[in-house]
Amino acid sequence: MNTITTVFGTNVFSDAVMRERLPRETYKQLQRTIKQGRHLDNAVANVVANAMKDWAIEKGATHFTHWFQPMTGITAEKHDSFITPTDDGRVILEFSGKELIQGEPDASSFPSGGLRATFEARGYTAWDPTSYAFIKGKTLCIPTAFCSYGGEALDKKTPLLRSMEAINRQAMRVLKLFGDTETTTVRTTVGPEQEYFLVEREMFDKRPDLIYTGRTLFGAKAPKGQELDDHYFGTIKTRVAEFMEDLNAELWKLGVLAKTEHNEVAPAQHELAPVFTTTNIAADHNQLTMELMQRIAKKHGLVCLLHEKPFAGVNGSGKHNNWSISTDTGKNLLDPGDTPYENAQFLLFLCAVIQAVDDYQDLLRISVASAGNDHRLGANEAPPAIVSMFLGTELTEILDAIEKGEEYGSREKEIYKVGVHILPRFPKDSTDRNRTSPFAFTGNKFEFRMLGSNDSISGANIVLNTAVAESLRQYADALEKAEDFNETLHALIRDTIRSHKRIIFNGNGYDAAWVEEAQRRGLLNLKTVPDCLPYFTSPKNVALFAAHKVFSETEIRARYDILLDNYSKILNIEAVTMLDMAKKDLLPAYSAYTRRLGETISAKKAALPGVDCTYEEEQLKKVSALCGCMYQKTQVLEDALLRLDQTECDGLARARYYQQTVFSAMNELRIAADEIESIADRKFYPYPNYGDLLFGVR
Ligand code: ADP
Ligand code: MG
Repeated sequence: MNTITTVFGTNVFSDAVMRERLPRETYKQLQRTIKQGRHLDNAVANVVANAMKDWAIEKGATHFTHWFQPMTGITAEKHDSFITPTDDGRVILEFSGKELIQGEPDASSFPSGGLRATFEARGYTAWDPTSYAFIKGKTLCIPTAFCSYGGEALDKKTPLLRSMEAINRQAMRVLKLFGDTETTTVRTTVGPEQEYFLVEREMFDKRPDLIYTGRTLFGAKAPKGQELDDHYFGTIKTRVAEFMEDLNAELWKLGVLAKTEHNEVAPAQHELAPVFTTTNIAADHNQLTMELMQRIAKKHGLVCLLHEKPFAGVNGSGKHNNWSISTDTGKNLLDPGDTPYENAQFLLFLCAVIQAVDDYQDLLRISVASAGNDHRLGANEAPPAIVSMFLGTELTEILDAIEKGEEYGSREKEIYKVGVHILPRFPKDSTDRNRTSPFAFTGNKFEFRMLGSNDSISGANIVLNTAVAESLRQYADALEKAEDFNETLHALIRDTIRSHKRIIFNGNGYDAAWVEEAQRRGLLNLKTVPDCLPYFTSPKNVALFAAHKVFSETEIRARYDILLDNYSKILNIEAVTMLDMAKKDLLPAYSAYTRRLGETISAKKAALPGVDCTYEEEQLKKVSALCGCMYQKTQVLEDALLRLDQTECDGLARARYYQQTVFSAMNELRIAADEIESIADRKFYPYPNYGDLLFGVR
């Protein structure tokens, strides 16, 4: 077997490759662009492009593409070959600096929320030199941002880079105030844990709901679910292990730091976690990971389901966004540290996050909003839709003591003073055990657990970075004017805790009592996409994004429209798929079953007059009645869709209608269908059932 170290990053135009292949001066100039965002001049770009092309061709590449993340959530690529014709009818392989730096995909069918219409139909892609180019298949992929000609972001990367710049600006101001002269940049880091399901491809291919929507729209529970907790961390089955091995190998070649893998709680559910890295790279890597998971699963006769809720009755899949802030000197700013100085700085950054999460609960909820994720956040399994923070008892007690000016702990009978006293050590492990919290402090980072498995991590990190940048901006403003730094700092921390402690909750987030308590505290509980999206455009949020130059109001409105539109479209596809399955497969199958029962009854009676036909007759009665009921539910759903076709309404009203009317009609249809499935002859069920799907991979 190849050792990981020799395989790792072999398909990446990494720093090591650049150092080796670029002339020294070119390398240095490129580094300045990467580290300080300096403009790269054309001559330098030409040299870099040429070296990149030679390297890629040696690795078997024939094409290049600007790899970008439009607002659809997937990644997009349009391949161009390196071929350039010569005058004498031959070809040479070329790749210019211009082609590296900027592209013009004909991207008119990507969603723009109306942005492009007002400017030009075309958008352009621009190289993100901080994320390395890589080879996928026979194509050199260049990570790029995607914008309109007016400069509006049409993708997920542009605002993410802007938000990283915002937090860098404000965190640098704060660090300077603490006397830090070494740090030149501050970056956020992310390690996203990715959950997914694996099912047999043969079974997947027989289920229109999985094919069209990624989740099962019908399906009675199997006799066994996840109640025994025997899958979590259990032995990995050989087929799955082989898949994981293959996946890791491919990810390592691409420089993705795939690290841990294990079975998750639900049967057929698994998780992959990488080692954390800089946020924009982590986002690119997560997109690649999802793409490779799906591709490699197919090679193993499996299908990887990334939907947030593929199966009712067992856990859905999420993505845990482990997030922290680091300096280029290697310091983690969310690590408490050992000295009063480090502690004080830590407490201020901690407060920045507390304030950000409280002030922008709505945006955090919106950042994870999708039709698929509504199934998790509204239900009683994943983090609830209420955003709150878990800090652990020790840290919470310390904050309490600071807020109230009381002594902390029994040994030092002293009042804890920020910047003077040392924080007591709190054991890291005790911070990590609350699995129900949507936003947990885990010793030296935060774990935001509301993300859906299918989502890009960009959205959540755009909000986190920007919201924390805003708290830091306020602190830097106050501290720069301060006459007594320590006094002002202490007051800042105390006042922040006082105003924002309502967001801290260390209890069980699944508890019904918490919902009431949260309401008393004035926290938001936005269960669905149409519930939360209107908050996106509130003046407070528009002001936040504008102040930090992350989104203009126009860009926010465009995203708002796209999210709503996407939500309605998904529900529509689901509803239509359900009707299709009910009318063309399920009802005919059950009707055939009742006919069989009738024939059996007649045959039995003919063979043996007076014979007991209770079972068949009862079944016939029950199934016929349930079929009647199910048929009626298809009519209700059809009517609901029809009525929508006949009314003019805006995006929000439409989404609300889908959520309130269409979605409940879908649920009722499902209940009726699943009830028949649970009593009817298995042979008549036209699809692989839940048992087959969840326990089929052996
Ligand atoms: P868990 O108990 O949730 O599995 P781990 O310690 O294994 O916790 O970490 C989970 C994820 O958190 C990994 O992807 C890891 O790389 C990431 N992580 C660790 N430290 C940081 C950090 N400073 N910034 C961002 N992510 C981090
Ligand atoms: Mg975790």
